[in-house]
Amino acid sequence: MDVALLKALSEADAIAADEQEVRQILLDEADKHGKPVLFDGLGSVLIRLNESAGPKVMVCAHMDEVGFIVRSLSHTGAIDVLPIGNVRMAARELQPVRITTRDGMKINGLLTGERQGSEVGKLRVDVGARSAEETETAGIAPGDRVTFATAFSQLPNQQLLGKAFDDRLGCYLLISLLRELHQTPLDAEVWLVASSSEEVGLRGGQTATRKVNPDLAIVLDTACWAKNFDYGSDNHRQTGKGPMLVIHDKSMMASPKLIAWVEEIAARAEIPLQKDMFSNGGTDGGAVHLSGTGIPTVVIGPPTRHGHCAASIADGQDITLTHQLLVAMLTQTNAETVVRLTDFRC
Ligand SMILES: [Zn+2]
Repeated sequence: MDVALLKALSEADAIAADEQEVRQILLDEADKHGKPVLFDGLGSVLIRLNESAGPKVMVCAHMDEVGFIVRSLSHTGAIDVLPIGNVRMAARELQPVRITTRDGMKINGLLTGERQGSEVGKLRVDVGARSAEETETAGIAPGDRVTFATAFSQLPNQQLLGKAFDDRLGCYLLISLLRELHQTPLDAEVWLVASSSEEVGLRGGQTATRKVNPDLAIVLDTACWAKNFDYGSDNHRQTGKGPMLVIHDKSMMASPKLIAWVEEIAARAEIPLQKDMFSNGGTDGGAVHLSGTGIPTVVIGPPTRHGHCAASIADGQDITLTHQLLVAMLTQTNAETVVRLTDFRC
């Protein structure tokens, strides 16, 4: 796999609606392969992989990560921030973060909060300033975005550590599909969509789907299990056990026919699958499958450990297997596939 690409994606800073650093990586890649690009009104990136008279397939991953936004500058020099997306409580205390100013300047700081029971509130970033003047002079202003400052690194046994793996692993897979399939004749027209603002309510997933109007959608996302070292049968998000195939989450129940189709393809390619069910939370799949009169949608992705924190860990082999599964799915999708998935007489 292209570890340098994943590093660049992971270290790019992008919270909902302010995703230019990730968008630029995708645009450069589309440009490199001469692929046309559209946007929806929220800034989602829609790359057309190929032209075809066949059914339209949308492969979607979100660009934004969980983070914070500067709310106000206190006279004490503290910078009050609000979480954007569901940042874990444990990750709201004493974490190195960086502020990206509206001029694109990066300023490092330390996130602190006040714990009350299981909640951590009153979030502030400390950049060492002792007055509002000092923070202002540094170029910080309300509305600036704040992200974790974790450096990407490679760990033993093909493990990878970095921030924003949710969902830069998905963005990585969009680019790896573009690179692998950019000259491959396909029976379906494939749109690679990097959506905006998923972490604040599946927003770009909705608007991008209306723009593409696909016949079939594949949503790429990741998830972790609450107990990272649980290798029991309850945990369907174990790193190193292959891609997760999401059967159910709060926002979507996958069609049994579609699940069977993915399982059939995975079995033929000898790719192991973990059948996952989210008891809460959702993905862009929740928004995508309700677009128009309903779109057959499946959610797939490599599992991680420590989601929505300062850093996650993923297994390189899971990412490669997810890529292989997606290639097999896209090369085997044709008009007959869509008819089969949308004919409810059988
Ligand atoms: Zn996600």
